[in-house]
Amino acid sequence: MEQTDGALAQLVSLGADCDARLAARWPVIPVYRDGGADGRWLQQAADIRLVVTSARVGLSPRAVARLPRLQAICSWGVGCDALPLDAARARGIAVSNTPDVLSECVADMAWGLLLAAARQIPAGDRYVRAGQWATQGKFPLTTQVWGKRLGVLGLGRIGQAIARRAQGFGLSLRYHNRRPVAGVDPAWGYADALVDLAQWADFLVVACPGGAGTRHLVDADVLRALGPQGVLVNIARGSVVDEAALVALLQSGALGGAGLDVFEHEPEVPAALAGIDRVVLMPHAASGTRETVDKMSRLVVDNLVAWQETGRLLTPV
Ligand code: NAP
Repeated sequence: MEQTDGALAQLVSLGADCDARLAARWPVIPVYRDGGADGRWLQQAADIRLVVTSARVGLSPRAVARLPRLQAICSWGVGCDALPLDAARARGIAVSNTPDVLSECVADMAWGLLLAAARQIPAGDRYVRAGQWATQGKFPLTTQVWGKRLGVLGLGRIGQAIARRAQGFGLSLRYHNRRPVAGVDPAWGYADALVDLAQWADFLVVACPGGAGTRHLVDADVLRALGPQGVLVNIARGSVVDEAALVALLQSGALGGAGLDVFEHEPEVPAALAGIDRVVLMPHAASGTRETVDKMSRLVVDNLVAWQETGRLLTPV
């Protein structure tokens, strides 16, 4: 069944191989080449049946309204907070993302940030490079990770990959979702309230979706409950954490440390965070390994091919 003979607007590049696969099948409008900033691609709106975008670039409901023949939006990444889900649902437009293939690498990054922040690995690296080891001697003491308590906010695909790794470090684990997850390791306890989870945990990892429903879920009360020895790790979305409260509590010492891959106003990062040694910063790169990025790109193309051949997406949102 041939689902579309129209054009494909490509808002992001998927790498040379996948871009070539797309160009071999569809008339592609390579919006990403000129940044798409001025919306010139929408002048070809009448032809466009497919849009390729990403969790970060997204697609506005306004753009959807200008695409009368749009059939499917295939997004690179798992987050849906920048996708026009309501507008798509109202028009019967199919939407896909790229779940699962990135979970393990994002979980690795969560652990990397946790270890780096608690053990102050980047600060130690700076200490050695600056020659301070020779002049000032022993590096200050850091926080033990092994054997402690890990809280996970959002025990979904990524949260569970993070949780599985906890066993190797001998951590006990509890989580908070809107409801308990069936069929997971019975040793993973459920916390009804996020603030109770933070109170119990030594480390809290944020792994739930962003968007209006989770905005500032991690607020000053939750961060205070995590405490002066506690470490917050966020690999989910900056919007989930009240960043102003995070900065204030880190500065006052009421929160022990943080490992952050995502920020409220990316790529802007509060300057104050860069001045705190107990904070480790990454430029939203948790899924950014060659292997994972390649799998994500191929899954976007496979979704489009499946849509064209069967009228179904492989990984619908
Ligand atoms: P997922 O499988 O859908 O898991 C999300 C989990 O969050 C679910 O267990 C869900 O459980 C829970 N949740 C949702 N709303 C909640 C709320 N209001 N309060 C408490 N828990 C809530 O998604 P995933 O594949 O693990 O991805 C999670 C997020 O990670 C994505 O949405 C994305 O934003 C982020 N991410 C970041 C990167 C990066 O590069 N840093 C890469 C990939 C993904 P309930 O529905 O039962 O509440």
